[in-house]
Amino acid sequence: MTKNRIGIDVGGTNVKIALVTSDGKITYSNSVPTRAEMGYEYTVNNIKQAIYDLMKETKTSSKDIQGIGFGFPGQVDYKAGVVRNAPNIPGWVDVPIAQMIESEFHIPTRVDNDVRCAALGELNFGAGKGCENLICITVGTGIGSGLIVNGKLVRGASNAAGEIGHIKLQIHDGPICGCGDTGCLEAFASGPSIVAMAEEYIKGGKSTKFREMANGGAITPYIVCEAAKAGDPVAKRIFTITGEYIGIGMASVVNLLNPERIIVGGGVADSGDLLLAPLKETLKKRAMKSAGETVEVVPAQLGNTAGVIGASLLIES
Ligand code: ADP
Repeated sequence: MTKNRIGIDVGGTNVKIALVTSDGKITYSNSVPTRAEMGYEYTVNNIKQAIYDLMKETKTSSKDIQGIGFGFPGQVDYKAGVVRNAPNIPGWVDVPIAQMIESEFHIPTRVDNDVRCAALGELNFGAGKGCENLICITVGTGIGSGLIVNGKLVRGASNAAGEIGHIKLQIHDGPICGCGDTGCLEAFASGPSIVAMAEEYIKGGKSTKFREMANGGAITPYIVCEAAKAGDPVAKRIFTITGEYIGIGMASVVNLLNPERIIVGGGVADSGDLLLAPLKETLKKRAMKSAGETVEVVPAQLGNTAGVIGASLLIES
């Protein structure tokens, strides 16, 4: 009999929890608020209650569940099962989440970075099926990645592998990055940098559709995307520049790892070809010939279920 697993995707606002079959189907899902400001114990208690609710509603017990996996948006010690820190979830510093859940439910529990989980999900059941060498990137508030090399998830010497957003594109005087350094890919090309570019154009006196569409409210990457789709040349240009930056960053990664596929997900990637076309073009132009010809760039397939599906796979990887 195939056993079920629980996948949990912790985000800054909500925690998604799902019962996932060993062939990647979600048979139950729910979400609970993170409320990080209440302290991590509060969130952990919410998660425990959500696991009890899941078991009750799906009529399963601990012995029917092979494992529990957590995807966490930050630095995680996979071997120890500890969340080291999460920039957008204050208070989660050195939290032994695996042990806390195991002592309550007596089910083996693992934790890893959320984008690594998404990469595992896409590799097994999404846009990465059949790949041996794969890079899954997410473009949202930041740029994260999960790396699969020779069929295996790469974690690195101190669990910090995959920080593609912090590839340096400029030596001196680059834009300031959230990591504390300057000139990182993420500081040139992410949700906030799209907004910053849009605001610069407005300050410079450009008349744009996104200014009208925001109607005095905040400009978001989504609004800039809608303006681009409506034909606004400035908005299109912003996505072209963003795609080019990501393409140039990816050219270095492709030269280094020679992957078959790059999967692009995250909210900003919902802009589709506005971002992907310049990304692909720059990558092909700037990567070395053999690696550049081999790699295929595709959109993510699992959307916001990649995290829970991938987390459910941690128990075996
Ligand atoms: P986070 O990195 O915070 O988890 P997401 O990956 O969900 O975030 O991305 C959120 C961002 O994606 C927001 O800035 C939002 O404006 C942007 N976004 C959502 N849909 C689109 C779209 N169709 N085109 C461009 N940006 C989008």
